[in-house]
Amino acid sequence: MFQISTIKKTIVHIRTWTKFSILIILAAFLMIGAISYIYKPIYSVSLHGEFIGYSENKSKLQQRINEYIEKGNGGNIAFVEVNELPEYKLCFLKKEVPTNDEEIFNKIVEKGQAYYKYYAICISNEEKAYVSTFEQAEQVVNELKNKDSNNKNELSIIEKYETEAKELATVEKCVADLYEKKVVVQSSYTIAATGMNTSSKKIDLGISLIRPVSGTVTSRFGARWGRSHKGIDIGAPKGTAIKAAAAGTVTLVQYGYGGGYGNHVIISHGNGVETLYGHCTTLNVKVGQKVSQGQVIATVGSTGNSTGNHLHLEIRVNGVAQNPQNYLY
Ligand SMILES: [Zn+2]
Repeated sequence: MFQISTIKKTIVHIRTWTKFSILIILAAFLMIGAISYIYKPIYSVSLHGEFIGYSENKSKLQQRINEYIEKGNGGNIAFVEVNELPEYKLCFLKKEVPTNDEEIFNKIVEKGQAYYKYYAICISNEEKAYVSTFEQAEQVVNELKNKDSNNKNELSIIEKYETEAKELATVEKCVADLYEKKVVVQSSYTIAATGMNTSSKKIDLGISLIRPVSGTVTSRFGARWGRSHKGIDIGAPKGTAIKAAAAGTVTLVQYGYGGGYGNHVIISHGNGVETLYGHCTTLNVKVGQKVSQGQVIATVGSTGNSTGNHLHLEIRVNGVAQNPQNYLY
């Protein structure tokens, strides 16, 4: 008997507890339901320790930020540098609390530094034009080489990462802009003066000339060492700018030995009047180019048959060399 009553008591006890537990669990569910009806988990976002907003969807926001850092918002942005990533803190807030993922994203973007990637096409290591891709840059260089552009051997491509966006050109525009017509090299003998006016008679040029460089005349016009000197030499340091003596049209640009003149330029001033500038280092003009008086056309050097830096200047009238000192220096 004793045993049975004990068992009965225990059963009653368990039943009571079970009912009670079920009640507690129900109550808990109700409470959670009530709380989640009013509150929701939201991420509070801060940047550099400063609160910038609440995010509705943290993983989506993070993904968007990561994508932006990796490739910016398209175009030629290579990547974006962001000093600090935002911090997220989980909190339960009333459902009415407004979230602003868009604003948070914009604030982070504002503080980021975009790096643009593009390709520079260089001539003699000077950046001349920019294109979007390496393939385009290669195409420009190849087309210029196929067209036998005068500058084809000085072309190079540089990959650039810059914070400044550059205006990018199309392949067609680049080729058109950078193409330099090859100078038709005439034989220096056909362009050499056919004679010299050794008389003291000064011919009226009809134009006034200015000194192409300032300096001292180191060799005069006329007979010299058993041969004739068809111009004058003016000593000046290498690289000194040479100015056009008068306005005119460039009729010859020649690189190389040039029959002794070295790199030289001839300008026609009309009425059969021409000036020649010899032994230059650089030639800054092209055949057919119109130049004004005083415009820099070349720089002083010692190319061709020359022993030191100087400008060899000739003035010709109908192919006959005149004494420049009748007009200048
Ligand atoms: Zn000379």
